[in-house]
Amino acid sequence: MWDAIVIGSGIGGLAAAAALGKRGKRVLVLEQHHTPGGQTQTFRRHDWVFPTGVHYLGGAGPHPGPEGWFGRLLGWLTDGELRFAPLANPYDIVRLPDFEFGIEHPEAAFRDALLRAFPHERGAIVGWFEASADARRAAMTLMQLHSVPSWLAAGLRLLRGAQARRWAERTLADELARIADPRLRAVLGARWGDHGAPPAGAPFAEHALVMHAYDAGAYYPVGGPARFAETLRRPVEAAGGELRVGADVQHIVVRDGRAAGVGVEHGGQRREESGRWVISAAGVPNTVALLDDEVAAAWQDTLAALRPGHAHLALFIGFEGDVAAAGASTANRWVMESEDVGRVWGDPADEDAPGFFVSFSSLKDPAWSGPPSAEVVAIVDHAVFARFLAEPDATRSDEYLAYKDWVAERLLAQWKRHFPALAPMVRFHELATPLTHRRYVRTPQGSMYGLELSAERLASPALHIHTPLPGLLLAGQDVFGPGVPAAFTSGLLAAAHAEPALFAQLRG
Ligand SMILES: Cc1cc2nc3c(=O)[nH]c(=O)nc-3n(C[C@H](O)[C@H](O)[C@H](O)COP(=O)(O)OP(=O)(O)OC[C@H]3O[C@@H](n4cnc5c(N)ncnc54)[C@H](O)[C@@H]3O)c2cc1C
Repeated sequence: MWDAIVIGSGIGGLAAAAALGKRGKRVLVLEQHHTPGGQTQTFRRHDWVFPTGVHYLGGAGPHPGPEGWFGRLLGWLTDGELRFAPLANPYDIVRLPDFEFGIEHPEAAFRDALLRAFPHERGAIVGWFEASADARRAAMTLMQLHSVPSWLAAGLRLLRGAQARRWAERTLADELARIADPRLRAVLGARWGDHGAPPAGAPFAEHALVMHAYDAGAYYPVGGPARFAETLRRPVEAAGGELRVGADVQHIVVRDGRAAGVGVEHGGQRREESGRWVISAAGVPNTVALLDDEVAAAWQDTLAALRPGHAHLALFIGFEGDVAAAGASTANRWVMESEDVGRVWGDPADEDAPGFFVSFSSLKDPAWSGPPSAEVVAIVDHAVFARFLAEPDATRSDEYLAYKDWVAERLLAQWKRHFPALAPMVRFHELATPLTHRRYVRTPQGSMYGLELSAERLASPALHIHTPLPGLLLAGQDVFGPGVPAAFTSGLLAAAHAEPALFAQLRG
């Protein structure tokens, strides 16, 4: 009998397991993939190492108060083993045709730079930042509603529910429409890839929250994102727990109306594991799929109505030579082919990507001594991959492989046009598609950030750490929103619901 069973070893699951381990609880973490870490995992090709779902993090610096909360708690969980290095400032560079703008922190510096570059838009810029602050407060309320007990949620809804709902329903496109200058609109709207919802549907509250995440600096884990799993598994194992990879959870066992364990396939064997708590950090649709239909049926129906978000293509590039001397840096590049920055890549067969993100990750890690690498990410309509997603996951048809190669060459050629000095240094490239993402982290339809960000999702009471099935808790990005810090927070809160003494630690 484990104290808790955690499904999924992404940052949401690892945070929950490590926090419980710190309290001396025996936790079993089950991960279907052969590498732990979910989207914090890295992979190696020849001498190049590539991160998958971490390019920069907010809240990880040595700051007092909420701005350093994430890093402080990671320091506690890992006994200071997990450290972070700052990125350059500006940390994001938006590149439009014939125009480039660096996004600085803190936000006041960014706002002043905008006022200097767009003096004719003073009113709109001031209004944007005022609206952002208001929308962020609404987003925080919405996040709290996903974790507090129902009596407190009722009070919160009474006090701040109307404001939260209003901001959840207002889209990024609504706010951008108040700006006349198309370049300013593009600079403020371009980074929606950080939450994956294009401006037309993105709740402005979420956009404001994510954009503010780097107010106290952008950071990268020293030793690379794989350090999350390497360091967070230690408190789990020190308390007698276990992180088991290649362990595919197939159902959640319900006994006497309570989640009592899981059925898991591991090394070709099926077995049952029992636990006092089951914490699922495997994604909400995956969790629902593990339950019999009649278990909390109304709740399952509500969740089934939430759609997966857009998918992405990731091009991993390996170089030989001094990429920094050729213009690469720790700042991310948001390359946009036009000032219309809100488009998802429709069909790669028809056109180049309307925009893409570039991270020179090896430069961000001061501990990295191998050859340099970069990742290029473009958000794509998963409908384009629907025919391939319908194929059994174990197979990859010749048609798919040919299409994938073709798209890889197209995206690489487009990238090279934008980075001509780096182009001759490319020695390796490989594309990951929605099928790749689905295989490694199981997100339905290969969705980049899990559930689609929408007003319904933000306000849904069904997305709560506590589920209607006693003993089953939820964690991970689908509960609190995309991003490593948000998924981490949900994991800690799930752990604290199972072990309330943790709440005091979380306030620190
Ligand atoms: C390309 C890309 C770039 C990103 N960049 C950033 C960034 O720079 N900064 C940032 O903060 N965020 C970034 N993100 C988002 C961030 O990586 C995610 O929001 C976060 O890591 C999600 O964590 P999670 O624990 O919720 O889920 P995951 O990491 O997806 O973990 C879920 C785990 O559950 C496992 N699982 C599923 N079903 C089962 C089952 N039945 N049995 C056992 N295991 C199961 C999966 O294999 C997976 O390992 C990025 C995401 C992507 C895709």
